[in-house]
Amino acid sequence: MKCKRCRGNAEIQVRHHNAAYCRDCFIFCFQRQVERAIDKEHMFSRDDEVLVAVSGGKDSLALWDALVALGYRTTGLHLALGIGAYSASSTQKTEAFARLGGLQLITARLEEDGLAVPTVVARTRRPACAACGTIKRHYFDRLAFEHGFAVLATGHNLDDEAARLLGNVLRWQTHHLGKQQPVLGSTHERFARKVKPLFRLSEYETAVYAFVRGIDYVIDECPNSEGATQLLYKDALNRLEAVMPGTKLTFLQDFLRLGRPRFATEIDGPPGSCGRCGMPAYAAVCGFCALLGDTDTRRSQRVIPASNDAS
Ligand code: AMP
Ligand code: ZN
Repeated sequence: MKCKRCRGNAEIQVRHHNAAYCRDCFIFCFQRQVERAIDKEHMFSRDDEVLVAVSGGKDSLALWDALVALGYRTTGLHLALGIGAYSASSTQKTEAFARLGGLQLITARLEEDGLAVPTVVARTRRPACAACGTIKRHYFDRLAFEHGFAVLATGHNLDDEAARLLGNVLRWQTHHLGKQQPVLGSTHERFARKVKPLFRLSEYETAVYAFVRGIDYVIDECPNSEGATQLLYKDALNRLEAVMPGTKLTFLQDFLRLGRPRFATEIDGPPGSCGRCGMPAYAAVCGFCALLGDTDTRRSQRVIPASNDAS
């Protein structure tokens, strides 16, 4: 097999593009696709300071690596979530990557705020992934605002976005469909623009990129694991992809072109400000403060029967 770009020996096959590459050309094409997504979707320019949310997994580290190689101005943002050995290893890999590249990294340790994910999860009835997602979003927004970043980039890839789309379609979540796009503009002074430069690159491509670039990333999935349903949707799409290469990309791209505009009216107006923390909110308090309020209530509910027992 010959490399599509240089006609040398190909080592890496990308079936949905019906192409094969040598290592160097694969790296070149991967980075060029990231750059094209950024330009085409007007995500940011080389003058912007971009905050990159880095979990220590292959996608966000591949993203950070590509952005640095392409000459964008970046700072990493890592949340040490406090999920046992998994989080310890995620933090260690992220910090090692930053150190090796001489890159700026902001690390927030949730434990220091008494908000390690297992602590919060134990105090609420909400599913672990939902609580964790709310906490992460709040920290992303707050830290981007506090550190003066107008753009926040995440490592969501094609598989993530296609699986999310499938989930939203299966339950016809029109409201979510209206909001599902690679760029979410800022609608509040404390909301950074959210961008997903890897949205057209598959999990396979980011894994190969991380491998050929020698990036050391966390391989384990989070023990709470992004709901079994998300994995089920990914699996279903992978089966379709195996028989019909290109299915995922077409599903997502055609949705963005043809489907999403039809749901755009479903989007909420701009958010107000949370009465407790001042961050954007669609109700009197934001999702994060509601979660903490929920855990406070649960704690006090538990205290009452205990003291009754004692009397
Ligand atoms: P996930 O929600 O785990 O699928 O991750 C989606 C994206 O969110 C990743 O590609 C990262 O950009 C970001 N992210 C997830 N977990 C963290 C974390 N602990 N710290 C910083 N960014 C994260
Ligand atoms: Zn709040």
